[in-house]
Amino acid sequence: MRQPTEIESLYLDFDGFFANAEKTLTPELRDRPVGVLPLASKHTSLIARCYEAKRFGIERGTRALEARQLCPDIALPIARHDEYVKLHHRILKVVDRFVPVKKVWSIDEVECALIGRERKNVEALAHHIKTALRAEFGEFLTCSIGFAPNQFLAKVAAEMNKPDGLEILHPADLPGPLLRLSLTDLPGISSNMEQRLVKANICSIETLWNLTPKHARAIWHSVEGERMWAQLRGFAVSQHETTRRMFGHGRILSSDWRTPEKGRDCLRLLTAKAARRLRRENYTASALSISLSTQDGRCWRRETRFFPARDDHTFLQEMGRLYDSGIKLLGQPRLKKLSVILHGIQQAGQTSDDLFEQTETRTSRKRWETLTDAMDMLNARNGNCVVSLGIRKEPPGGYAGAKIAFGRVPELNDFAMTPNAARTLQKVLEKHEY
Ligand SMILES: [Mg+2]
Repeated sequence: MRQPTEIESLYLDFDGFFANAEKTLTPELRDRPVGVLPLASKHTSLIARCYEAKRFGIERGTRALEARQLCPDIALPIARHDEYVKLHHRILKVVDRFVPVKKVWSIDEVECALIGRERKNVEALAHHIKTALRAEFGEFLTCSIGFAPNQFLAKVAAEMNKPDGLEILHPADLPGPLLRLSLTDLPGISSNMEQRLVKANICSIETLWNLTPKHARAIWHSVEGERMWAQLRGFAVSQHETTRRMFGHGRILSSDWRTPEKGRDCLRLLTAKAARRLRRENYTASALSISLSTQDGRCWRRETRFFPARDDHTFLQEMGRLYDSGIKLLGQPRLKKLSVILHGIQQAGQTSDDLFEQTETRTSRKRWETLTDAMDMLNARNGNCVVSLGIRKEPPGGYAGAKIAFGRVPELNDFAMTPNAARTLQKVLEKHEY
């Protein structure tokens, strides 16, 4: 393992990104505290807040009603994920002018690797990036920048002086500035992990720093402990390239979408969107699971397996079967939350045909694949979703399947909506003899 003697990593983390994005996009919001809601309901919780709102004790996760009580003047716009994604892509372009973006960690966090002269004058580099961002977006879309010998510490540094911060952790100064942080300030230390550390008498960064790698491994019960130890000490630890394990979407239903019929519509939509993402990244799935939570607090989850597939028809059919059995078992419930996940992910083309599959089934599957590909092509060409199997009624809140989750920035064409489609679909069907 290599121990850098220079600053090698830059981490850039935007402050209250969705809230400040709203201020950037909507001038009327600029002198008001802003919290962003995932959907139009006073029972939902904020997914972001600006720093003025923070002064009123409002945090991410504060309920809309409570935020309103704490600060009657707060503006609570509904999230516009497509706009945030556009901003994200513009931000990447600005950062790239100074130093190439190595990895996008989430919609508002990126990492750059520094080489040669870039490592020497990092204050100036931060200044240039911040000035260019301000010139492009104005004063509201601020970011905090961290520099350190590795990505892990650069991320920690970016969190140290929010908002609009700059923190530089020189390898020679370690652990100095880290000692004022608490254990849960480190990425990867959740409150559960903290409890485990406290049980092992590790109550501060200092004691964690002073562990031996072997001891760290024993506490974590895995090599992750050693990794944590090494990253904290500034070693260059190679990032695991995460290979795709699943594609999924979930949704909390607003009160008028909680019937079994509407739940089914919503789940169909989420399934189709997950399937589109799967195909775009050239994968197949051989399992699908759904989970349903009811308003009275019950949960139900089932998984089904099938021959590796990538067409909407297969996924929607499998989803439908599971869904019907779940609804029956739960006794026509009022639903609250539902989600669908495609598992058993493999690169398309890695699976050979199943020898035991009936020729008839195989032919039918191939036809559905052809149809699905044709639909994807049409949708891509038209810039939005003009063709789909079955309904495409968007549940309230919109953006089904294009929500911004940690670690996944939706692509612009995830934001498909549906104007008129029947005619086009008819043509495709005719062409493919359906
Ligand atoms: Mg942020």
